[in-house]
Amino acid sequence: MLANPYSDQLNQGFRRLNFAAELEAEYRRYQLDHTFALRRVALLLCVLILLVQGALDFRFIAPPVLWWVIGVRAAMLVLLLACVALVLQRRHSRLLSPLTLACVLGMGVGSAVVVVLAQWVYPGYPSEGLLLICLGSYFLAGMRLPEAIGVSLGIVLVYAGLELTIGTQTNLLSQLLYLLFGNLIGAAGCYQLEYKSREQFLIRRLLRQLADRDSLTGLHNRRSFHRHLDTLWRQSQREGQPVAMLLGDIDHFKRYNDCYGHQAGDETLQRVAFLFEDAARRPLDMAVRLGGEEFALLLYGSNADDARERAETLCARLRNLAIEHAASPSGVVTLSVGGISIVSCDILRSIDELYVRADQALYRAKAGGRDRVVMASDRLEVGPEVDLDREAFQQDA
Ligand code: GH3
Ligand code: MG
Ligand code: MG
Repeated sequence: MLANPYSDQLNQGFRRLNFAAELEAEYRRYQLDHTFALRRVALLLCVLILLVQGALDFRFIAPPVLWWVIGVRAAMLVLLLACVALVLQRRHSRLLSPLTLACVLGMGVGSAVVVVLAQWVYPGYPSEGLLLICLGSYFLAGMRLPEAIGVSLGIVLVYAGLELTIGTQTNLLSQLLYLLFGNLIGAAGCYQLEYKSREQFLIRRLLRQLADRDSLTGLHNRRSFHRHLDTLWRQSQREGQPVAMLLGDIDHFKRYNDCYGHQAGDETLQRVAFLFEDAARRPLDMAVRLGGEEFALLLYGSNADDARERAETLCARLRNLAIEHAASPSGVVTLSVGGISIVSCDILRSIDELYVRADQALYRAKAGGRDRVVMASDRLEVGPEVDLDREAFQQDA
């Protein structure tokens, strides 16, 4: 049966906001992608708030402390603008997470320094801005809970350290409590958000898998096959690379079911599916269960010789499994394969013709005695010859 890490993880639960290793890596990529817009908004908001705060500093803080404060704000602005420039390009997706962390930390530490400096000359200077930054890290920066907690507590610690060493705050304990309780509320909300985001990820992927995969074998289904074929075809036209299609059909499978039962038939289908999956080695290759006992292999960059060799290997590997089939002339389960490899689209009227030609080759393989590979010519052929072959096959069958 189809291995399904998404439903397994849903059943297992994820209260600690952690998936199994491979799924976790997939979720992190998904999460980065889905929080991109949010992070961009957060950055632009930060720039705006920083500019407004800078303007207010001139109103409330007197020189020379004002120049220190403006200097710190300018450094924060440079950091933010550098991050904005990198993030907006979207080419540096690997840097998205560290850049967000650097921004939030930079804003927090910068603000803590500003608060402590400003309080030298303006004792009532508010420190609530620090709490806003912490809440932003929980809700707006697209960070995961451990990142948000780490950064926010870091900011609180830096603030406490500065107050204890060079600050003038007389009410430090209540300020810190206020910050810590604010963080507690932020962390609780962030937990809920991340939990929902993880749940949504699992459900989306599960639905996609159910729509694109065959439930018995786990191979891609016909729907997925057509979509991928379309993609490969366009890529092949751009890059001038060949696309090969191999269609495989298990020989005398109806008799196999009749002899050994449907359950054994299903198991054999799974074993054949494994061979196809194993043959789809390169990233753009795809193994498909088209339906019943019919499979397909899409190979990108595979010329006719290579495709034939891969098809021969498939047939040989199945023969070597020696799955008993008393009602087949060979005594074991075998496969017939029809294939085609095409470089240029010019000789085909449409992409569907690739499938038709491979199918015709498969019929020839059946008519020729089964358990063999027939490759279609990559030149344009006329139909009647193929129809004759098909008739011969039907008579034979
Ligand atoms: P040929 O060599 O000409 O391909 O003969 P065949 O018997 O394999 O072909 P035919 O199309 O007559 O029969 C296909 C059989 O595949 C019929 C059906 O019982 C079986 N089949 C289709 N889907 C499944 C499935 O999901 N599980 C099982 N066990 N059998 C299936
Ligand atoms: Mg069939
Ligand atoms: Mg068959």
